[in-house]
Order: sequence, then structure tokens, then C-alpha cells
Amino acid sequence: MKSCSTRGVSGPFPRRHFYPGFLGVLLVTGLVLAGQACRSRWPGLSAIPPEEGPSSLAGWGYRDYTGVIHVHTAYSPDSPGLLSEVAEAANDRELDYVLITDHNTLRGLKEGNEGWYGRALLLIGSEVSTTDGHCLAFGLQDFWGEERPGGKMPPERLFELAKRQGALLFIAHPTRPSNPWRNWEVSRANGLEVYNLGTDLKRMVPLIHLQDLFFSIFLLRLDISGLIRKPADTLALWDDLLIRGRRMVGIGGVDAHARVRLLGWGVDSYARLFGILQTHLLSQKQLTGKLQPDKALIYEALAKGHAYLSFGLWGDATGFGFWAQAGEKLRGVLGDEVDWEPNLRLVVAAPEESRIVLLRDGEEIGEGAGPRREAKADRPGIYRVEIYQKVGFRYRLWILSNPIFLKESAPLLAGFH
Ligand SMILES: [Zn+2]
Ligand SMILES: [Zn+2]
Repeated sequence: MKSCSTRGVSGPFPRRHFYPGFLGVLLVTGLVLAGQACRSRWPGLSAIPPEEGPSSLAGWGYRDYTGVIHVHTAYSPDSPGLLSEVAEAANDRELDYVLITDHNTLRGLKEGNEGWYGRALLLIGSEVSTTDGHCLAFGLQDFWGEERPGGKMPPERLFELAKRQGALLFIAHPTRPSNPWRNWEVSRANGLEVYNLGTDLKRMVPLIHLQDLFFSIFLLRLDISGLIRKPADTLALWDDLLIRGRRMVGIGGVDAHARVRLLGWGVDSYARLFGILQTHLLSQKQLTGKLQPDKALIYEALAKGHAYLSFGLWGDATGFGFWAQAGEKLRGVLGDEVDWEPNLRLVVAAPEESRIVLLRDGEEIGEGAGPRREAKADRPGIYRVEIYQKVGFRYRLWILSNPIFLKESAPLLAGFH
């Protein structure tokens, strides 16, 4: 049995200090006692012997598709970007898919622009303005009869429309100070953006007319890392929704507009932003090169929450995995609901050496270094993983997984023996 991790309140990776002599003895005794107490509650994260099943989700038959979500083009009033530029950037970044979301329109879809462009599948949804905030819609066939750029629809109408058309809805930038999502009671969305890159870029620029200037200064200095921060408020909101029983899939929204150009050079170009934040989708199916089955594959993975976010500027996250296994049997992967059983283990596989943090119901319950860690799941709960990469002297949030929902097993029938 490995020792239980001790956790501080100052951050995910508290430094540990050891003192000689009597203090040391006291400290060790305290740690042993705390370890005993902790062990009965949670065994911590331990390294895995190599013989216990596949070492990655690929070994369980899952493919990892990398893409970006929430991209505007010239069909939005606030973007001059061209579809051909999106396609070129997606190919440059070796993305498998891009989800385009122009404001309040499906024009690109109706003009037949969806499809494969080189190695990237471009799918077209919309970012719909409602009276309670913005919502990304995927799989919508049609709007509400007319398209109203600048107009806002009641959210109930959008939810009804999406339900009728089998479309997926994701709340966009839910905690953006200038335009948050305002009504969680009415929301029947499939998920939310747990990180929106555009919000962090805008955060630096409270005066909208100075936005382009500030963009230029920060991005020209390549000081993007200063803009990226852990979305603590959105994560707290997400955990709260999950604990209240709302199955909300977490995605990353790039919110690319490609609108800042200096002397013909794209400061916030698609290629640059696509390299910062990605949403990976996992599927046991293979993309075929044909629009309809591939569109269904992408939307199915999104709906199931077989997804994780990555800040690709800290490294390629492809190969990350988080799953539940009992003995040699796979019980479920991130996004899945799994019946809890006493011998269930949660396994985390990072693409490389990094810091792994496991959370249950929004609370950190274990952390450890390594590309691969596991923990015994000693009770039901909502488990998710955060992976941190050391960049310079600091750990940066690198990967954010969707949760595995460990449910209480169905009770036996009364009188059953
Ligand atoms: Zn928006
Ligand atoms: Zn947007």
C-alpha cells in the first residue's frame, strides 16, 4: 500500500518539509497516524505494475481525435476570417475536426460548406444569442424560420428547437463577466465551456475599443502564457452543477475571430489560437472520410462526454486516458456512468511525466507524479482528473478530463437471498 498523499490548502502541489530530531519523530508519527486515517478513507494515487491491463485508452480500443470548438468566420459580424483560412490552420495544426459557430446563423451549413478539408473535418453549428447568454448549438438543421443577426431568442425556444432537431447545446463562456450565462434553472444544455480562450484574452482589455491594441501588444510579445490561467470560477460552477445531478459535458471553446491584423499579419490567427487550446474526443470508431458518419461520430463522442481539454501550448496531450477497471475488465471511460463495485480502480494515463490530481465531487483527494497512476475507488462519486505540466518554475494546468460518474449499484430486491 502506498502512502496517502498529504494535501495543503495553498495549492495543488504543496512542498513538504522535514525537520531533524524530536520534531522529525513527531512529524513522522503524525504522518503515520494521518496515513492510517487517510488510508481507510482514500488510498491515494499509486504507481501501477505494468502487467495490469493496457497502459492507455488506445489499448482499450479508443482513438483520440484532436479538434477545436467555437470558431467564427466572416458569417459572423465580428470576424473577417475565411473558411479556407480555418481549414489551412486546422491542417497546419494537424487537427482532426473543427466546430465552426458563427453568430446566429447557419449560412455556412446551408451553403454546403461542411465537409473534409485535407485531414480536418469542418462541421458547422452556431453560437446563438439568447436572453440568458450565448449557447453553442451543434447538429441544428434550421433556425427559427428567419435568421436574426443581433437578435436574441428566449432560451426555452432554443432548447425546444434543439430537442426537436436532435441538436446538442453547450453554454458558451458561462462566467465571462461581460456576458455570463444567467439562468441555470432553465438550462437543459448538454454541457458547457469550462474554459473559453476568448474570455481570457478579453480579460486583459476592459475597454473594448482598445482591445485590438492590447491583443497586439500581448500576442506580439508571445506572452500568451500570461493570459492563460486556471478557470477556477468555471470549474467551481461545473463541479456544483455535477454534484446537483446535472450531467454537463465540459468542453474548451477557442472563440477564435481572427480579426486582429498588423501590416497583413494575423496576430490572433486561427493557427495561433488552435495551438493553444484543444478538445480531444475519444471514440472506438474510426473516422471514414465521409461527412455523415464522421459527423455522427464527433457529435456522439461530444454528447457522451468522451472528451478532455488540453492546453496544447504546454505540449501535445494526445494519449491521455482516464478509465475505471475491475480486474482485467474495462468498466467505463471519462464521461461514462459506472456502477460502483468494491474492487473498482480508477486509472490515469498522462502522455508524459507530469503532476496528476484526482478529484471527487470537486475536492482534491489524491495527487502524484508520473505518467501513470491509479487509485482504488472506495466509494461512489463524481471523479475527474487535472494534469499539470511544469513550465519554467510553475505548474500549469495542461489537461482537464470529463468525469467518471461512479453510481451506487442498484439495490437488491427486498426479500431476495
Ligand atoms: Zn459569445
Ligand atoms: Zn463566440
